[in-house]
Amino acid sequence: MMCNYELRMRRIFSFAPLILFLAAPLFAQAPEPANTNPVPVADSEDPNAKPSEIAMATSPRREGFPAPSSSKVSYSSCNVEQPYIALTFDDGPHAQNTPRLLDLLKERKIRATFFLIGQNALEYPDIVKRIVAEGHEVANHSFTHPNLVSFSEVNLREQLEKTHQAVLKASGVSMRLMRPPYGSLSETQRRWVNANFGYRVILWDVDPLDWKFRDSERVQNEILSKTHAGSIILTHDIHKTTVDAMPATLDALREKGFKFVTVSELLSMDKPGAPKETKTTSVETKSEKKEKEKERDSESASNAGARPKTASVSEKSKPAEKASDSKEVAEAKKTAPAKKGETQEDLKQKWLRLFGR
Ligand SMILES: [Zn+2]
Repeated sequence: MMCNYELRMRRIFSFAPLILFLAAPLFAQAPEPANTNPVPVADSEDPNAKPSEIAMATSPRREGFPAPSSSKVSYSSCNVEQPYIALTFDDGPHAQNTPRLLDLLKERKIRATFFLIGQNALEYPDIVKRIVAEGHEVANHSFTHPNLVSFSEVNLREQLEKTHQAVLKASGVSMRLMRPPYGSLSETQRRWVNANFGYRVILWDVDPLDWKFRDSERVQNEILSKTHAGSIILTHDIHKTTVDAMPATLDALREKGFKFVTVSELLSMDKPGAPKETKTTSVETKSEKKEKEKERDSESASNAGARPKTASVSEKSKPAEKASDSKEVAEAKKTAPAKKGETQEDLKQKWLRLFGR
């Protein structure tokens, strides 16, 4: 018996290498190894990223999207040596105001960056084509302009993907940047977007609140007083008053020595180092918040023509827009924290003292 048992055991062990050899392909089919692209590490804005967030960023990158070229994921401004700035126009294309803006930019040989809403790009593919043909950069601003911060991975992907495809189809351009509506996107989502779409997340440091104050002179003054080298200026080409403000604003910026580049060009000049102090006064007090909520109600009514009326998603996106416009401000607040109780006027005075403008 002992002999038989020993023999059997010997046989089993002699087959062991063969069994391991045969089983090897099974192990090879285990989940793919971690993405070999540089894993976006925590952005400078969030040095305390949780490991789970980093793990999320390692999910395989979609094919066809450019790889992130550095670990920095989101930008509010750039650290540049020359007086380069990037003008950005959000929420278009708009049937009348965008072509009018394009004429103004063309006359001055100025290139800008357009953060497009996917459903508008679908509606106005010829304008998207023209934006690209005239040397401007196009970027993703979601499909229906919702507040993405509460979105699941699946829904966030859908918002970006549909817009990406709409712009690609209209212009042949594969976009490389995105701006979340209202600047509202969690740190985890920002890195997920970067890992999955290759997008850099672009915020801003100059916000003239042109959606709120439909006053061209105010838009001009705000931009002129806050812009510095490396600035990313946020405006909206869907508003007539914003486009009306552009001729004088552009000429005055040029007069001050600023040079206009697209956001991607500005990013390529970004020098690592201490982030520049962001100079924005986009801070709201409690009373301003209430005032803004009131305005949003009237704004959505007067603004109905700016977005496609037919799509039901468009209707859905409006309450989100109203609810989270303050997020755009909240984001700006995050980049330039102000003392509690400071009003716009306080900040303006502080500005004048600090920068003598
Ligand atoms: Zn927007």
